[in-house]
Amino acid sequence: MSADGPQATVRATGEAVAVLPNYIGGEWRTVDRVETLPDVDPVSGETAALVPLSGVAEVRAAARAAREAQPAWRAVPPQRRARAVLALRDELLRRRRELVELVTADLGKALDDADGEVGRGIESVESAAAIPHLLKGETLEGVAEGVDVELVRQPVGVVAAITPFNFPAMIPLWFLPYAIACGNSFVLKPSERDPRPAALIAEMVDAVAEIPPGVVNLVHGGRDAVEALLADPDVDAVSFVGQATTARLIARRCAETGKRAQALGGAKNSLVVMPDADLERAVPAIMGSAFGAAGQRCLAGSVAVVVGDGARQAEVREALAAAASDLKVGPGDDPETDVCPLVSAEARDRVAAAIEVAEGEGAAVLVDGRRDAGPAGTVLGPTIVAAADPESDLAREEQFGPLLALVDAPDLDAALEFLNDSRYGNAGAIFTSSGEAARAYRYGAEAGMLGVNVGVPAPVAWFPFSGWKDSLDGDLHANGADAVDFYTRKKVITSRW
Ligand code: NAD
Repeated sequence: MSADGPQATVRATGEAVAVLPNYIGGEWRTVDRVETLPDVDPVSGETAALVPLSGVAEVRAAARAAREAQPAWRAVPPQRRARAVLALRDELLRRRRELVELVTADLGKALDDADGEVGRGIESVESAAAIPHLLKGETLEGVAEGVDVELVRQPVGVVAAITPFNFPAMIPLWFLPYAIACGNSFVLKPSERDPRPAALIAEMVDAVAEIPPGVVNLVHGGRDAVEALLADPDVDAVSFVGQATTARLIARRCAETGKRAQALGGAKNSLVVMPDADLERAVPAIMGSAFGAAGQRCLAGSVAVVVGDGARQAEVREALAAAASDLKVGPGDDPETDVCPLVSAEARDRVAAAIEVAEGEGAAVLVDGRRDAGPAGTVLGPTIVAAADPESDLAREEQFGPLLALVDAPDLDAALEFLNDSRYGNAGAIFTSSGEAARAYRYGAEAGMLGVNVGVPAPVAWFPFSGWKDSLDGDLHANGADAVDFYTRKKVITSRW
């Protein structure tokens, strides 16, 4: 295994920006003769690294390395694979601060938020360390005279993970530990927009002697790399997270090529504010949900559905607008920052354009975050817009920025009708002091992750991350028992002796 990982290469070169190497078969491999993409610092606008747009040759090499390593890895007893996963946890704990700072530097999110992301990733690793228990099968004795039936779980083989920009450490860590703990080998293709945290995780894997070369591989790139993974005969299963359109494309291509797929897509999450909600607690929770990470979370509450009469609706609007106006916009590494920059100037301009469109359609901009976009063109303040039309794109489509739409509803039934008409079903929350309302909401809301007086209802790692509708293509979710089901094949043996 190599001594120097990609980060060392970047630092050692000083002014010169390094091309990130791939990590294949336990070696850092520089990629020649391919185009590169700048990985841009979201605060300064400077290029921090160059991302090689790997193609078929690089992906093929990674998938082959994974295929070759898998049989021996599968033969390692589950309790030793669990120990290998725990050794990775030790590395993550040892270098946690470095990883947190890299998430902030590469994506722009606030340090606290980045620390929360890395903490969640570590929880997935801890959860996967229970693999000897999670992998246990079933038996049924005596289905006929002298005949017993046994179910065992075996690894799928080679797993590819294709991950998005908005959780560049956590989402690779949703997949990697479970996949390898189940006895699979793994190829990661991180987002080309902020791949350096994934590269650091690969460095940590490289430092864990218990994980043999080839079990975990990393290939940088964009669409071509994804297409190559989807076409590669050595890839058996694909875990994907990204936009709903990309998720659908991945799921369709996997169906065509006979690969197992779980494809987690986008979201439009509603936060229902009931007339009896305690606004002292609900408003800060809504601020965190809508504007944390500049709204670039799949669990972001991007619509507040305000339930009640006209006076209550006005009260809630005013409280939300006042709180949003108080939020501090700044770089992620400033501890005072509430709203960080977006990942790229392109993302910022897309959200600003959506505000303009909504305004043109008659929506009222209650808090306007449009301002000087900063040196990288990425800054946009928190924005609250009262949607004139509850069926507008503002209220219905994912904008993925610090933009909260407000929709009014006379009662909970109307609020449920609005949110259940969404094509997405990732998450949602209700703010109320009524157990009856909370129960009606949890019973009737068509989304897989719900909060009751909790603005970001992210399940802890021992539960599945359970989006519904267009927020998931496939049947099995990331994390928890679903992850073990996804990364294993069941075999049933009927025996007579
Ligand atoms: P994206 O779909 O643009 O990219 C995700 C991955 O797919 C990247 O690795 C990218 O290289 C690849 N990709 C993009 N377009 C492709 C194409 N046409 N063909 C092949 N590969 C392609 O997503 P993003 O913008 O990086 O991430 C944000 C999205 O992810 C949001 O929609 C967010 O809601 C969603 N997300 C969902 C969850 C969830 O659990 N449901 C979690 C996090 C993020």
